[in-house]
Amino acid sequence: MTRSFLTALLLAATAPLAAQPLPTPTPAPSTPPKYLPTVPKAVAEIRDAALSDNHAWDIVEGLTVEVGQRMGGTEAEARARVWAVAKLKALGFANVHVERFAMPVWTRGPESAEIVAPFPQKLAVTAFGNSASTPAQGIVGEIVGFDSVADLMAAPDSAVRGKIVFVTHAMPRTQDGSGYGYFGGPRRQGPSIASRKGAIGIVVRSIGTDSHRNPHAGGQQFEPGVAPIPAGALSRPDAEQLQRILKRGQPVTLRLTLVSSVRPGESGNVIAEVPGRDPKAPILMVGGHLDSWDLGTGAVDDGAGVAITAAAAKRIMAAGRPLRTIRVVWFGAEEMGLYGGMFYKDVHGREAHHAIAESDFGAGRIWKVDSKFGKAREAEGMALQAALAPLGIVPGSLDAADGSDIGPMIEDGMPAVGLSQDGTYYFDLHHTPDDTLDKIDPEALRQNVAAWTAMLAVLSGGIEPQPRARQRR
Ligand SMILES: [Zn+2]
Repeated sequence: MTRSFLTALLLAATAPLAAQPLPTPTPAPSTPPKYLPTVPKAVAEIRDAALSDNHAWDIVEGLTVEVGQRMGGTEAEARARVWAVAKLKALGFANVHVERFAMPVWTRGPESAEIVAPFPQKLAVTAFGNSASTPAQGIVGEIVGFDSVADLMAAPDSAVRGKIVFVTHAMPRTQDGSGYGYFGGPRRQGPSIASRKGAIGIVVRSIGTDSHRNPHAGGQQFEPGVAPIPAGALSRPDAEQLQRILKRGQPVTLRLTLVSSVRPGESGNVIAEVPGRDPKAPILMVGGHLDSWDLGTGAVDDGAGVAITAAAAKRIMAAGRPLRTIRVVWFGAEEMGLYGGMFYKDVHGREAHHAIAESDFGAGRIWKVDSKFGKAREAEGMALQAALAPLGIVPGSLDAADGSDIGPMIEDGMPAVGLSQDGTYYFDLHHTPDDTLDKIDPEALRQNVAAWTAMLAVLSGGIEPQPRARQRR
């Protein structure tokens, strides 16, 4: 079609209407843009300098190479604490110490799963934390399958008694990881429900989003009064294979070996501080958890978190003295049941905290900032939003924050910040052998450090350059 022909067509179409005035629709009211306060130059500078940070990589690389996996309460976690104290002292932190606590230590032994009948074959399995142990030769039982925890709950006990329960689910991949809450039910509640109904064991589809033959470990606690039974995860491909086998309609028999042991032991929180100019000012507490699952090296969960938060505090320390004390906490035994977080709350929960924040969602870029300081401090939340926006971070809620170890303290009303990391791929690696250093993108890690540094700079009450730094100006 030629241009002139098109013009003629358009003219012909509009000509009859041009004679009479057209009604003008009322324009939709435009939402006013959110005006955030100007970012102080000192905050912008320290934030942007952190984009070339190497401290965080140095910490997570050192921890994963020199310690490796570090299950809560184990000898490996004890070595991690020794490593952490030396590292934090070397970085120049003050008041570096360990606050120890007792805990039951669960340790994984040999594990395997195989279908005995009707189609003998091996399945990839791993035990959940606090699983009961099977005998060395395993247990053998008929499988009864369910599509959800609700279906398991609704089943008559007679359908479950003496059998091995299998529960599947359809956890989706999401940026904010929100699927983990609901779709984690088979792991968190499944074992207790199955035991109450008389099952001899339970396997669930891994709470994850990858398609590798990597089962995902994870914590679960048997409810009080419920007898522990062997409980574990099948990798996603193996869970799907088991579903196909069950669909054939014949009785399916599984041999499940999940050997483990429990003994009394101890863990601890590693604490380090950047002392503030005003010792009476409420403190800023940031951290992650030092323990990890045992299948990978705990690089993403949560080597990255301890590295990011300590690196940010180190950058503030290097810039000068903040008004408020910054306390870095590397929590012990988070994975086995928030032991470190609960212990910190017991010991320090009544101290005045200006804000608390935890990095425990991997090493992806931060995309959103939430805060929960209370109505009277919303301006501070907006100052924080403004300081982070240039890093590509969306201003989020002024009335929300979350965190694993710090969750109970947030519930108690402690002011808190939530820096949301992109979790699109987090549940591919989470609690699997794939949680290793190579999965961390150094540039994303630096963006995290810049965000945490800016957050500390905004909330620190002002950083006074050290005398030496002042002379150089
Ligand atoms: Zn974690």
